[in-house]
Amino acid sequence: MSIAHLLSKNFLEKEDLLQLLAAEGDDYEQLLKRALEVKLSVLDNKVHLRGLIELSNICRKSCLYCGVRSDNRKVERYALTDDEVLECARLAHQLGYGSVAIQSGERNDREFTDRITRLVTRIKEIDGGSLGITLSLGEQSEEVYRQWFEAGAHRYLLRIESSTEELYYKIHPRDERHDFHKRLECIDTLLRLGYQTGTGVMVGLPFQTLDNLADDLLFFRSKDVAMVGMGPYIPHPDTPLYQFANQIPAPDERMRLTLKMIAILRLMMPEINMVAATANETVDPMGREKAIQAGANVIMPNLTPNAYREDYLIYPDKACVNDKPEQCRSCLDLRMKAIHHEVLYNAWGDSVAFTKKKRE
Ligand code: SAM
Ligand code: SF4
Repeated sequence: MSIAHLLSKNFLEKEDLLQLLAAEGDDYEQLLKRALEVKLSVLDNKVHLRGLIELSNICRKSCLYCGVRSDNRKVERYALTDDEVLECARLAHQLGYGSVAIQSGERNDREFTDRITRLVTRIKEIDGGSLGITLSLGEQSEEVYRQWFEAGAHRYLLRIESSTEELYYKIHPRDERHDFHKRLECIDTLLRLGYQTGTGVMVGLPFQTLDNLADDLLFFRSKDVAMVGMGPYIPHPDTPLYQFANQIPAPDERMRLTLKMIAILRLMMPEINMVAATANETVDPMGREKAIQAGANVIMPNLTPNAYREDYLIYPDKACVNDKPEQCRSCLDLRMKAIHHEVLYNAWGDSVAFTKKKRE
């Protein structure tokens, strides 16, 4: 099928996705151009912010790709204090970021889950609840998700990492802590509880095929999620998956594949929020801009105190590790202006897809 025909289709089938994922040269350029047109017509040129707070690198899991996995003894473990988290949230408010995103290694103990409830409650007290709160704290029980939702968190990010069970178990140990079906259940629970639910995958993983990626796109659509975050996989030398680093596409190819995934998903789900992940910037200095131009509409500037950032290296050479939050704000403004986009301040930036569904 010609690219023009494909790009004008209302409903993309798996074979269409495979053809688009393989697009090269002029076809690739046309895909990205069309995705940008769709985004601008549906969501305008606005970019939403989530001030990122990397709460802790203490994690009970041992995902085979992640630098902070529990079996990596080289990492110095840290947890921000309540005061430090609240300070980050106040800074987000001062800088005009409408929302914060709290991310952490996974812990399920009561001390941790109650602490999160307390922190969410206290962040909600800042300026009469003006900050939106996204959580990304891994797999939890329904009761815990509900507790956090009732405290005021309204968005949750839990990437499926790969929607193909076989691939999932090639990048995770096969044990009770890493259960593909449990992860799926958690995503369903979050959706049912009324969170704006986000999921996503890494792109360019060892053993990953275009067929797997097409299935990931179909998975996002079938779950009707409100948000998606996708970024290139970045091999970390202190992880088991690193031994396959020579089998994955080169960084520029992983970047292009990520951009194709973003662009195709924008055509499939025009109204969702899509994050331009920091990992994009790590493989390409213009990675964030490129993701925004391919259809993403959310950026997560880092608010974690600089002293801890070196310890939250889920992958090496993470971008902006040494930037101060104030520098980050003006830098982002300029960078978005340069590509004719505008950062939206003092807004929650909810997903249009979610808001519409709620009204129905
Ligand atoms: N622990 C929570 C979880 O796993 O959902 C949240 C924090 S975890 C560090 C956030 C995301 O980082 C994961 O969902 C994964 O996709 C991404 N990540 C981890 N290691 C990565 C790597 N080596 N390259 C790219 N992304 C990675
Ligand atoms: Fe822990 Fe998340 Fe890293 Fe897995 S990806 S090891 S759950 S921090």
